[in-house]
Amino acid sequence: MQPADPATQGDLSVFEKTCLYCGARFRVLATHVADDSHRESYDCPECGKTYEVEAASEPQVQLLQPRSDGKTDRYQETMF
Ligand SMILES: [Zn+2]
Repeated sequence: MQPADPATQGDLSVFEKTCLYCGARFRVLATHVADDSHRESYDCPECGKTYEVEAASEPQVQLLQPRSDGKTDRYQETMF
């Protein structure tokens, strides 16, 4: 158990995600504040694919494992 950081407001939620596009694994740190949470976007550090999470400010992303698809292209958002 880690003591709460008095400098941090709200709850820090940490989760790991595997990118659906390139297979990279990364950790996402998102701060939750009870009355100030909304959709924030963050990008896969390897291919740039955008994801969203409920958070009070822009989430931080830490790469854990490089992409596993063997490519170097960037994810292309397709707008319709
Ligand atoms: Zn990716």
